[in-house]
Amino acid sequence: LSDRLGGVFDALKKRGSLKAGDVDAAMRDIRIALLEADVALPVVKDFIAKVKEEAVGEQVLKSVTPGQQVVKVVHDALVGLLQSDDQDLTLIGEPPHAILMVGLQGSGKTTSTAKIAKRLTEKDRKKVLMASLDVYRPAAQEQLKILGEQTGVATLPIVAGQMPVDIAKRAMNAGRLGGYDVVMLDTAGRLHVDEQLMAEVAAVRDAAKPRETLLVADSMTGQDAVTVAKSFEDRVGLTGIVLTRVDGDARGGAALSMRQVTGKPIKFLGTGEKMDGLEAFRADRVAGRILGMGDVVSLVEKAAETIEAEEAEKIARKMQKGEFDLDDMASQLKQMRKMGGLEGVMGLLPGVGKIKKQMAGANIDPKMMLRQEAIISSMTPQERRNPGVLHASRKRRVAAGSGTSVQDVNKLLKQHQMMAKMMKQVAKMGKKGKMPFGLG
Ligand code: GDP
Ligand code: MG
Repeated sequence: LSDRLGGVFDALKKRGSLKAGDVDAAMRDIRIALLEADVALPVVKDFIAKVKEEAVGEQVLKSVTPGQQVVKVVHDALVGLLQSDDQDLTLIGEPPHAILMVGLQGSGKTTSTAKIAKRLTEKDRKKVLMASLDVYRPAAQEQLKILGEQTGVATLPIVAGQMPVDIAKRAMNAGRLGGYDVVMLDTAGRLHVDEQLMAEVAAVRDAAKPRETLLVADSMTGQDAVTVAKSFEDRVGLTGIVLTRVDGDARGGAALSMRQVTGKPIKFLGTGEKMDGLEAFRADRVAGRILGMGDVVSLVEKAAETIEAEEAEKIARKMQKGEFDLDDMASQLKQMRKMGGLEGVMGLLPGVGKIKKQMAGANIDPKMMLRQEAIISSMTPQERRNPGVLHASRKRRVAAGSGTSVQDVNKLLKQHQMMAKMMKQVAKMGKKGKMPFGLG
């Protein structure tokens, strides 16, 4: 695959913004990569169409080819799609909260039930009860009981001959009486989605009224992922997805298919047979695997970092000479807005920790920074290099041009003066190796 991509990249050595042709060429390889990762075909088609639109016009970074830039755009779009705001379990309201685990046979329901129960017990200090509703597979209930003993999580006593809905009711009762926070219900699965399985799971849902209904799915599920996820979502209703066997070879395209089809968040990743093989979902990790172009993505990220670092170094060099005009201030504001603080630029200078602390908090409101940037960009290049020429009428023009007031312009100029003065101090300190302001 890298060879093929290499070919495309060589053919696209020009810079500037991404053209439709660049994007189309790179997308052919992306499409193959996604299909190789077992993303369902309709999902691949949708995704490619959407990202194509996003990618055209995007700037190509220095030292990166358009094809590589497309890969990064695709990666970011994948992360965006996979990510969600409600990746945590939502256990609110009156306990006990039922968590219903559903999915096909062998997907990892029982294992994941015990792993999540262990996590809730140890990490969240919840009192958890587990119950197996799998009355079909021989020894399925015993399997959960053993895992309970291993993890120190309580399991509902097994009563021979009881049906799933009755077990669920008994579990919820025991949960209430025993003062449990969470009752985990592990259901039976079939090799394929069938009507009887769905009807039974729906009946259990009605009896237990779960806070969370998690679809457990093997990351090796291929084109089937769409059908499985859709059936469970339609018939039972899901609140999230647990993706298992992420420790295996599969590239895990099922994650994208299921997220796309159900719109539900992926909440956990199963990363091994052992009880500690459970992780909170991380979109970047899964996106990287699905795309399988991690080296290209990190290459583009490096290029972006390099450009930022070059920019920061340029300012730092000027600062060391004691120069600091409004252009410098504007690019520093932009950097600060991006990084949420002064760290990036100041961090390049030796021994400025304390000044940094003094200045931090002075102007970290991103809205205000945007306004300040707008003021500076309403000035002429001459004014930016030499703010001394800004008299009343010019200030009025700048204020009007940036949608601010003369007062705002004055405030900015004052702040610039303060920063410039500090830069001079820093520069002196750099030369003499002494701290200014008696801070040493
Ligand atoms: P169920 O039929 O859905 O309840 O599936 P099980 O929980 O019984 O799991 C079936 C098999 O998959 C067992 O051998 C588990 O140890 C294994 N398994 C489950 N989750 C994972 C995982 O995340 N990684 C690996 N490597 N194996 C897993
Ligand atoms: Mg099971």
